[in-house]
Amino acid sequence: MYDVEQVRADFPILARTIYNKYPLVYLDNGATTQKPRQVVEAMTEEYYNVNANVHRGVHFLSQQATELHEASRETVRKFVGAASTREIIFTRGTTESINLVAACFPFRKGDEVIVSEMEHHSNIVSWQLQERRGVKLRVIPITDEGELCLDAYASLFNEHTRLVSVAHVSNVLGTVNPVKTLVDMAHDHGVPILIDGAQSAPHMAVDVQALGCDFFAFSGHKVYGPTGVGVLYGREEWLDRLSPYMGGGEMIKNVSFERTTFNELPFKFEAGTPDYVATTGLARAIDYVQALGMDQIEAHERDLTQYAMEQMMLVPEMHIYGPKQHHDAVVSFRVGNIHPLDMGTLLDRLGIAIRTGHHCAEPLMHRLGTEGTCRASFGLYNTRAEVDALVKAIDRVRGMF
Ligand code: PMP
Repeated sequence: MYDVEQVRADFPILARTIYNKYPLVYLDNGATTQKPRQVVEAMTEEYYNVNANVHRGVHFLSQQATELHEASRETVRKFVGAASTREIIFTRGTTESINLVAACFPFRKGDEVIVSEMEHHSNIVSWQLQERRGVKLRVIPITDEGELCLDAYASLFNEHTRLVSVAHVSNVLGTVNPVKTLVDMAHDHGVPILIDGAQSAPHMAVDVQALGCDFFAFSGHKVYGPTGVGVLYGREEWLDRLSPYMGGGEMIKNVSFERTTFNELPFKFEAGTPDYVATTGLARAIDYVQALGMDQIEAHERDLTQYAMEQMMLVPEMHIYGPKQHHDAVVSFRVGNIHPLDMGTLLDRLGIAIRTGHHCAEPLMHRLGTEGTCRASFGLYNTRAEVDALVKAIDRVRGMF
């Protein structure tokens, strides 16, 4: 039995009152999630009692900090189902994880990367930056319902295709993409595939080995963990083929002016002092969601999303973007001609936090024929009562126009 009220008690911020009047209804979880006490307290405890730089020290605190940091890597490994901790690279987030692969992949002039029309800017611009190496982007179009056109995907492969990079779940449409099919089709052409898991890792159990993907990226702060830490999973055979990302301490074996050699995985990609307190926070966040059960969280959020879509459709002139099926915890909408910014600002005045704008997906906005949308996105602590408050507030704003 999923006890959402008990869950909410772990998140002090949810008790806040907005403008001294309204209880906070936080529906911007796609942007970032709130943090349970367990995460914040573990990080405070580490700063108060353990803090020391990792990996290099012979002293007690350094060894303890290193043990915590490497235990966090093991927690992440289990969370995504990787074969080895050598395949778990700590980064600053999804954006850095994707940029790492883009910058280090052995591209040659004329190579092509396939992305989709529904990608977040971080999964577009990272590859565009490689245009200076002669890399070209090919784009999978989407249907009017907001699903990938698989026939078009199949037709994009040719002898120049080097990599595919697509979102597991769209941060705008909530579309859950058929990752296994995408992976199999890429592998049929001998092409590796990166999955942007920023919007899937917080909402469903992920098993990178079952999915068969070659790279998987996600952000700690969207999984109830701290900001500033994220993960790149990479299959060892691929990580071995990538050149190092940044140069500095940790990522080297020996340095001389004649010849520098690099450290083994995963350290080859982790130059400099890592945010070892944040990795502890991320591990505690993973412990937290796993104690609740990813399947229970998914069921709770699916129910909430379904309920939200049904209730929102009762509002006159409501338009909801994205598929009816395969729809995850994100609902993008517009009401009549009300500008999303006006809707967002007025909802905020009623204590309801949603996101408005292009959601870092301008090409998708062009495809949808809108300059922006309103987006309500749900997390493990949201309730049906909060959905009711949202719907009532949307209707009230509609009445003002
Ligand atoms: N990809 C997707 C699908 C996202 O939703 C986001 C965050 N909005 C990102 C990438 C980037 O994540 P971050 O800013 O944490 O690096």
